[in-house]
Amino acid sequence: MKPISKHTKFFFSCRNRYFITIARFIIAGAVLVLGCNASDPFIAFAKDRNTAPVLISGYIQGQASGAKNFRVLQLTDIHTHSGDIGSEENNQKFYHNLRLLVNTTKPDLIIVTGDAIADNGDHTGNKDMLLFISTISAMNTPWTLALGNHDQADDIEQMERDLSNASFSYFKSMNKQSAGIGNHYIDLVDKKGSKLWRFYILNSGVSGLNKQVLDWFAEKVGSSGSTGDTKMTPPSFAFVHIPLIEFKSVWDIGGASGMKGEDVCYEQTLPMAIDYFERANVDNDFRAIFVGHDHANDYHGVWKDIQLVYGRVSGYNGYGNYPRGAKLIEIDLEKKTFSHRTVLL
Ligand SMILES: [Zn+2]
Ligand SMILES: [Zn+2]
Repeated sequence: MKPISKHTKFFFSCRNRYFITIARFIIAGAVLVLGCNASDPFIAFAKDRNTAPVLISGYIQGQASGAKNFRVLQLTDIHTHSGDIGSEENNQKFYHNLRLLVNTTKPDLIIVTGDAIADNGDHTGNKDMLLFISTISAMNTPWTLALGNHDQADDIEQMERDLSNASFSYFKSMNKQSAGIGNHYIDLVDKKGSKLWRFYILNSGVSGLNKQVLDWFAEKVGSSGSTGDTKMTPPSFAFVHIPLIEFKSVWDIGGASGMKGEDVCYEQTLPMAIDYFERANVDNDFRAIFVGHDHANDYHGVWKDIQLVYGRVSGYNGYGNYPRGAKLIEIDLEKKTFSHRTVLL
C-alpha cells in the first residue's frame, strides 16, 4: 500500500488519483535539438523552434561534463504547490538543494518525469507551474518535462505556452490532437548534424500511456534514420511519468535491484505498451524507459534488453519517506553506453 501524507489533501496515493479529464489540444510541433561535439571539451546546444534539426554553435555549456560523457539529471514528482502551510518552505528547500545538486553533478540536460506540480484542486495549477518553471529555469541548464497526472491547470494551453517559452526549456508539443500536449523528442547531434542520441518525452496523461501516444512514438522512432536505414538511428531513451506494467513484472521475477516500497501503479497503461518499445529496441536501438509516479519505488531492471528505471522522488511536498534525490544518467557518446545512479538532494 502506498502511504498517504498526513499533510494535505493534495498528496494522494496512486489508487486515489484525480479523474480530471485531459482536454485535447492542437498544438504546432517543433523539433528541438541539442548539439554536442564529442571531439572537443565543450557541449554546444542548439534551440530551434522550427521543424528542422539545426545545430547552432555559439551557445557553449557543459565544459565540466567532459568531451565524451553527456549527463542527464532525471528529477521526478516535485509536486510544487503554493497554497498550503509548509509548501513554501518545501519549495524553497527543493530550490536550494537542487542548486547544490546541479552545481555538483553539472548535468547537460534536466528531464523531469512528471508531477511538477501538486495538481489543480484549488485552481492554482497555472500559478504553481510558473513557480516550478522559475525554479527549474534558474538552474541555467536545458530542461524539459514529461507531463504527469498531477500536472493539471484551468488553462492547459497557457500552461503549455509557459512551459514552451521558459528559459532553457525544450518542452514542446510535437504531435497534434488526440495524443495530448507535450509529446516531443530531443536529439543530441554532432556538428555535422549526425544524431548521437535521442530522448523521447511522452505524456502518460492521468492514466498511463495510451495508443495515440504510443503510435506517435512508433512513427517517430521509425523515422529517425536520415536515410531510412534503421541502422542509422541513434540509441534512444523514453521519459514517461506513469510506469508500464513490466516494471512490476521485472521486480516479480527477481530481475530488478533497488528499493521497492509500494505497488507499481501502472494505472490504465495500454497492456501492450511494452511491445512498442521492444520493437524499437530491436529495430532502432531503443535502450531504456525512465519513469516516476511511485514515490516509494526506486529500482531498475532489464526487460528484454530494455532497461526499466524508476527515478528518485525529488520534491518535498509529495508522499513517501525516502530521502529526496534524482537519477544521474551518464552517456558515453563514444562507446554508446550509459549508466545511471541515484544521487541525493
Ligand atoms: Zn507524484
Ligand atoms: Zn503521478
